[in-house]
Amino acid sequence: MTALTEEIFQRAQASDRIVQGITDREFPLRRDGKRQNTHDNENYRLLDGILFKKITKPTGQEYWPVWVPELLRQEVLEYYHGNRRGMHTGSRKLYLTLQEIVYWPGMAETVKQHCAKCPQCVYESPVNNPKVVLCREHSAEEPNEIVNIDIVGPYPRSARGNKYVLTMECDFSKYVVTVPLKTKEAEAIARTVSERWISPFGPPATRVPTLIRRR
Ligand SMILES: [Zn+2]
Repeated sequence: MTALTEEIFQRAQASDRIVQGITDREFPLRRDGKRQNTHDNENYRLLDGILFKKITKPTGQEYWPVWVPELLRQEVLEYYHGNRRGMHTGSRKLYLTLQEIVYWPGMAETVKQHCAKCPQCVYESPVNNPKVVLCREHSAEEPNEIVNIDIVGPYPRSARGNKYVLTMECDFSKYVVTVPLKTKEAEAIARTVSERWISPFGPPATRVPTLIRRR
């Protein structure tokens, strides 16, 4: 991917009607053809013909991200989100980082939609990831004392409509039960654990089954 240079922004902003509207309003053209850049503009700055907008974070910190015209938004997202920079952090974190660098109206939503299509981001997102890690002080000393429960996926939907695999493993014996699931909702997991582990083997000695994620 080519770098997003100043010229690219200048050209893209020049062809964007919204950016031009703001520029004309905030930095009116003088008779000599130059922009009236008074430098006391509270919310916008024009530097080398490129429009920047002030944002203030809840912490009070001010940033001057560049105003990204519609034409460049996808490219900007891919540039910062792509593999090279590896910002597969889920939409919220990506948004918080991008906020300081780039701006456009409704950016939070665009970032969210963009990340929703990225499997890596979906996995990293705390909302979607039921990552519950209960740290253990010790390993199991007898069968069915500690059961490690993990859910992996989503995988491509199976003929029966399953997308996830729930694994339950006895920490002591390493005996494993795997069950394909349609969803990873807590209720489905609880029901499956009850039917496929607790019912045949009894409840594990640790009252809360340890949900760990090993990758
Ligand atoms: Zn991603």
